[in-house]
Amino acid sequence: MSDKTIHFKLITPEKIVFEDDVNAIYAKGEKGSFGILPGHIPFMSSLSIDIAKVVKKDKEITFSIIGGAFQFKNNEAIILTEAAECGSDIDTARAQLAKERAEAKLSSAETIQDIKLANAALARAMARLKAAAK
Ligand code: ATP
Repeated sequence: MSDKTIHFKLITPEKIVFEDDVNAIYAKGEKGSFGILPGHIPFMSSLSIDIAKVVKKDKEITFSIIGGAFQFKNNEAIILTEAAECGSDIDTARAQLAKERAEAKLSSAETIQDIKLANAALARAMARLKAAAK
């Protein structure tokens, strides 16, 4: 592998969503956004429900990332996440409906657990809409 690339794997319990050599990876962890270029020192982070972006030559690919973990070492990066979709594969109508359902559940929530579940569903839908819009 070239020194100027990172071998990146995006893995869910169901499948490998993406695997390729890329020039940069950007994602959002619980402590904030980060970017990784080839040659970076070893790095690990938990991941927020948000988007991640990879740059390959002059192309950018954005993914929705449903939490999980990121690890980088020796120019190899892995994201392990509950679910991930490439922005261009996202069904935006489905995500919009999920967002509206979550908002309705949030406004009628009666317990902390209801609020937590609705907030998580809302965050998943927002991440998908954000990734699809990139
Ligand atoms: P929904 O209520 O629409 O099912 P959800 O947030 O409950 O949304 P998840 O449980 O996170 O969905 O995901 C279930 C599966 O469906 C995963 O494989 C995920 O990649 C896929 N998925 C969920 N929403 C979308 C979407 N809008 N477009 C494409 N794939 C999706």
